[in-house]
Amino acid sequence: MDVTKIFGSMVFNDDVMKERLPKDVYRVLHKTIDDGVHLQLDIANVVAEAMKNWAIEKGATHFTHWFQPMTGITAEKHDGFIAPEGNGRVLMEFSGKELVKGEPDASSFPSGGLRATFEARGYTAWDPTSYAFIKDDTLCIPTAFCSYSGEALDKKTPLLRSMQALDKQAIRILRLFGDTTAKRVMTTVGPEQEYFLIDCSVYKRRPDLIYTGRTLFGAKPPKGQEMEDHYFGMIKPRVKAYMKELDEELWKLGILSKTEHNEVAPAQHELAPIFSTTNIATDHNQLTMELMKIVAGKHHMVCLLHEKPFAGVNGSGKHNNWSMSTDTGKNLLEPGDTPSQNAQFLLFLMAVIKAVDEYQGLLRMSVASAANDHRLGANEAPPAIMSVFIGDELDAVLKSIEDGTDYHDPEKKLMSIGATVLPHIPCDTTDRNRTSPVAFTGNKFEFRSLGSSASISGLNIVLNTIVAQTLSEYAAILEQADDFDAALNKLIRDEIVKHKRVIFNGNGYSEEWVQEAEKRGLLNLKTTPDALGSFIEPKNMKIFEDQGVYSESEIKARYEILHENYYKTINIEALTMISMVKNNITAAVAKYEAVLADVILKKSQVLSKDACIAEEGLLKHISRLACSLQCKLAKLEEDVAKEKELTDVVALAKYHQEVILADMAALREVVDELEPMIPSDLWPYPTYAEILYSVRYQPV
Ligand code: ADP
Ligand code: MG
Repeated sequence: MDVTKIFGSMVFNDDVMKERLPKDVYRVLHKTIDDGVHLQLDIANVVAEAMKNWAIEKGATHFTHWFQPMTGITAEKHDGFIAPEGNGRVLMEFSGKELVKGEPDASSFPSGGLRATFEARGYTAWDPTSYAFIKDDTLCIPTAFCSYSGEALDKKTPLLRSMQALDKQAIRILRLFGDTTAKRVMTTVGPEQEYFLIDCSVYKRRPDLIYTGRTLFGAKPPKGQEMEDHYFGMIKPRVKAYMKELDEELWKLGILSKTEHNEVAPAQHELAPIFSTTNIATDHNQLTMELMKIVAGKHHMVCLLHEKPFAGVNGSGKHNNWSMSTDTGKNLLEPGDTPSQNAQFLLFLMAVIKAVDEYQGLLRMSVASAANDHRLGANEAPPAIMSVFIGDELDAVLKSIEDGTDYHDPEKKLMSIGATVLPHIPCDTTDRNRTSPVAFTGNKFEFRSLGSSASISGLNIVLNTIVAQTLSEYAAILEQADDFDAALNKLIRDEIVKHKRVIFNGNGYSEEWVQEAEKRGLLNLKTTPDALGSFIEPKNMKIFEDQGVYSESEIKARYEILHENYYKTINIEALTMISMVKNNITAAVAKYEAVLADVILKKSQVLSKDACIAEEGLLKHISRLACSLQCKLAKLEEDVAKEKELTDVVALAKYHQEVILADMAALREVVDELEPMIPSDLWPYPTYAEILYSVRYQPV
């Protein structure tokens, strides 16, 4: 396979545009892409024609506006290129108007009330900063999705706005440091994606996996992850073949899939791309998740993207590596070679630390979901407390600035901001503190709380917005200063004092940290209903509005949708549990009771009653569990029915978290105790051992 040939072969990228568009059109289009100016219809017509011809050559028959509604997944409505010619023949048509604007019926997408108050119809608009591509013989045009009154109904529009906000504020700071060449600052993201692969045969026998993406029952397997033999272990040939095909499909779409390895849990793996600008990284991550599932199907496997498919073994996350860089190619979180570059680096670093401290709740909210609640704080992912890891070297630097003492690096050079060179700060290639939600890793921050199935958009909108906000505050202070160096020194020092409470370099999984964090006044928002309230706190709503990212009504809509997603997810899980117990588990238990009763009856006739002590003991035990099973089932059913009495989404979310989840846990406990006692041929569902080890070295 010639990777250089296939890479991007299905993307209408810059090279293709340059080759296929008239020079002046290419120039104008580029201006649109670079400066975000509006695209004229005559230009759009020429671009559309070139795009269509290119797509048809690649075998495309349809086109679609590809967008990211608030469901968190992508949506598409395919239209054929065909148009009747009048003589029984057809033409292949695609106009500039069709390229730049689409009008999908918005009424069936979640709108969180925006639909009720505003126009029912929405429209999609081309985002020329993300290239069009071909998938399944369809030309896909990345688009934003808005209501006619301009409200964002999607996850792309606010992301683009947040990138713009950060761009504006970061440029203000750069100008203060004398950088007059950088025209734009972009945020960059490299999302590392974790996932599980299991065989189709076990998947299709687990309704819980089918309906909810996770197992709702399952006793611990004899072997889980305790031997630590899967992490970075040899990749099985079946999985290798899958990864190869997946890479090929991703490369065709210009996605920089780079690293693959086995993860901690059995059947768990990870894929990491090379980072790109946040907007493209987001589109690419959505496509990656989609292709992971499609390619798995071709290999008779199922890719589980759920945050917690199996209790008792690690769940899956998505490490969001984030930084800011200029259009001139400078990473703003890279410590520099000159004192002034380092002072600038320290200011950007402080802006992130301050942002995490002041908007802990928003960050926590941005990774909150019913699925991710199973991971955060469960000693497999960072706790729900937001803190920043900066490592010992930087910690020493900040301490010396705070104390006003001279910092001595290992080479004994003195340090003060803006005067000498900072010590070399090694890039963290070893991932040495995996317990921190926000870790500085040498030239970027790694945000580790995000769940594996989530769109990366929500977290990055918050990140970009809060850092834009803190940068704008810094810019406002420094722009007023008469003596820039003195003001900068004072600012950084004051900020360290104010925000050092959020810096924590120790073990984030420990109980001591929970207590220490409480003493420091840091938030510990354990569950999604606890976390969502941050969205509508006045201080937080204000920065979204000030930075031009969300209007008040857009926030309220999302607040509503997040609650709805939460309780609906749990409701579906509860209903699935109920049906599994009623349909099959109860019957399996009864069958085994009948078998035992039969044995006891026959044995006592042939031998004596005393000969049946073992079977009787077992039957009694199972019978007690069967009783408890019905009791827990009834409680769950009753409580699920009571949900109808509630109408407010916040109350519904809280009710599901407090009552339904507890009922589900109680029911699961009984089922998981029964499972190992019932003969395998009677147990209706594949066990954890069967599922987790369903993909073997040899096909079976
Ligand atoms: P590790 O595997 O130890 O976490 P890597 O250096 O391999 O660290 O990076 C992991 C991810 O971070 C990759 O997706 C990589 O492309 C991304 N990354 C590296 N530099 C940046 C950056 N400046 N901005 C955003 N992401 C980055
Ligand atoms: Mg990492």
